[in-house]
Amino acid sequence: LLQLYLPLGFLGFVYREIRHSLADMERMFSLLEQSEDVKDLPDAADLQLKGGNVRFDNVNFGYDSDRKILKNISFEVAAGQKLAIVGASGSGKSTLVRLLFRFYAPTSGRIYIDGQNLANVSQHSVRRAIAVVPQDTVLFNDTLFHNIHYGNPQASEQQVYAAARQAQLHRFIEQLPQGYQTLVGERGLKLSGGEKQRVAIARALLKNPSILVFDEATSALDSHAEQAIVHELQQLSSNKTTLVIAHRLSTITDADQILVMDQGRIIEAGSHEQLLASQGRYFEMWTLQLAENNGEQN
Ligand code: ADP
Ligand code: MG
Repeated sequence: LLQLYLPLGFLGFVYREIRHSLADMERMFSLLEQSEDVKDLPDAADLQLKGGNVRFDNVNFGYDSDRKILKNISFEVAAGQKLAIVGASGSGKSTLVRLLFRFYAPTSGRIYIDGQNLANVSQHSVRRAIAVVPQDTVLFNDTLFHNIHYGNPQASEQQVYAAARQAQLHRFIEQLPQGYQTLVGERGLKLSGGEKQRVAIARALLKNPSILVFDEATSALDSHAEQAIVHELQQLSSNKTTLVIAHRLSTITDADQILVMDQGRIIEAGSHEQLLASQGRYFEMWTLQLAENNGEQN
């Protein structure tokens, strides 16, 4: 039965891919190929991964020529280390991630992965190396299974379940009447923001990249659920280069390095302890969030 099921399942997948509405395809392309202005050089080689060292060297960027969004951004994350980026909304955190993913090219400055300038390597090889769990996850009008499987079309069924377990999604899916075959998206079951984020996390884990990026990926979860999943993610990302954009500072105290951004600049950098000791912006943010948490509990 299993032997029969697998090829049929695969045909079903191909069929579904074909019948995907044009709207879905457009959405997919706007997500994956956001900027047509970033073009590969004619002789672009593939990125040669050696562990996932990430370095920004004096990067400047604006979406329009009259407004600078990122200003003189320089930092380095050693392979396997964890970098956290914090700062007010609009300070440029997501933009920085889009540049790393090569959706856009810097106006000036350079970005390197394992010593290779992103401007010189092929886009698809960069995107293969990085998984981003975005702020807003788009689900396709398809089953939960395929929405996760999309993270890595080569993955087996068992690997999809394993990723769902790691994203703390498996139990939720199993209690749905149609389980993994439940249709989601606009025409299917509406998932909560937190559930969508878990689908995105499962997708990213299935991709098993060298570099993992979480862009406020757990912000739609309540603090209790967030703590549980953050703990799990710490284990899963322990040997990967990880960039975490965080709203709740309590989730990033273990980061090797924390960057504090303000209006497109890095205004502070250091470990949690160092930043607290220096009593600057990070210290202010931390104190504020502690007070808010106490307020929640009382
Ligand atoms: P953050 O993630 O820290 O909240 P963003 O990187 O999303 O900040 O945004 C930084 C600035 O860039 C904001 O002022 C925002 O309005 C602007 N911005 C973001 N995306 C675009 C875009 N696609 N086109 C033009 N401006 C944008
Ligand atoms: Mg953002």
